[in-house]
Amino acid sequence: MGKILDGKAFADLRAEKLKEKVKNLKAQGVNPLFCVINIGDNKASKLYVRTKKRRAESVGIEQKIYQLPQDTKEEDVLDLIDELNQDPKVYGIMVQLPTPDQIDENKLLERIDPEKDVDALTPSNVGRLWQEDHFVEPATADGVMALLDYYHVDLVGKNVVIIGRSNIVGKPIAALMLEKNATVSILHLGTKDITEYTKDADIIVSAAGQANLVTADIVKDGVIIIDVGINHVNGHLVGDVDFENVLPKASMITPVPGGVGPLTVEFLMEQVIKLTRRANGIRG
Ligand code: NAD
Repeated sequence: MGKILDGKAFADLRAEKLKEKVKNLKAQGVNPLFCVINIGDNKASKLYVRTKKRRAESVGIEQKIYQLPQDTKEEDVLDLIDELNQDPKVYGIMVQLPTPDQIDENKLLERIDPEKDVDALTPSNVGRLWQEDHFVEPATADGVMALLDYYHVDLVGKNVVIIGRSNIVGKPIAALMLEKNATVSILHLGTKDITEYTKDADIIVSAAGQANLVTADIVKDGVIIIDVGINHVNGHLVGDVDFENVLPKASMITPVPGGVGPLTVEFLMEQVIKLTRRANGIRG
């Protein structure tokens, strides 16, 4: 029977330490402020933004939300980003994705000052990640790596299979796993037969957004499963993994909910504090 990796408990533990860091910053006269730009009426985005704000407040970080109308012009968002880039009181900026069709999200990401890039999605920070010279990481990827480390999972030489190649989840996890000397395969919708890879995987990270994608018959005994997926099935929140049937085969597995989700929000706050400390010349 697999060990269930408790992402929620780990995130809460980290949050306690983060609160101390925030307190210390405030004692030095530094107020960590980060800004989230959300454009349009996407319900999920609005929910994510509110969840982040609650978490930010609970650790003492100030989060400002710029909620812009669905028909906002690209130029206006770029102007707002410029303004925030120049404001010395702002330490972190993120654009909630996706953006409406009239806006090229890459243009927005390119415009964010890399030193304030909470999501680590600006071209220079993506490059730094692959060059193993990063100072900020996408929160989900950072959270997954920290969770594996917390549970003493040694990645050296491990066959890691990542399902999903998005810029925000799959690719950065691959970069961080490579850095730890794992052998990484990235699967996606163009992969002919995912089973060919999953059946030999020591670790599977599923970030596809498809319920029941990872079933017991396509994984080997002792596999470690990190389920990043979030799917709504019959009013329930489930991951990509058939949890009940994979659990007996796995050596470790994250649940949904209570696995990677809480880590993403926690590690987003950790990026804000990293950037705030860095901007103020505080090391560590
Ligand atoms: P995305 O849609 O940008 O990317 C999905 C990727 O999965 C694509 O590369 C696609 O090719 C691949 N894919 C989809 N179905 C597949 C299949 N059947 N076989 C192989 N590959 C397949 O999504 P994303 O933003 O990376 O998010 C992925 C999932 O993770 C979603 O469910 C999302 O809600 C969830 N997510 C969770 C967290 C968290 O904190 N738990 C954070 C971010 C995203």
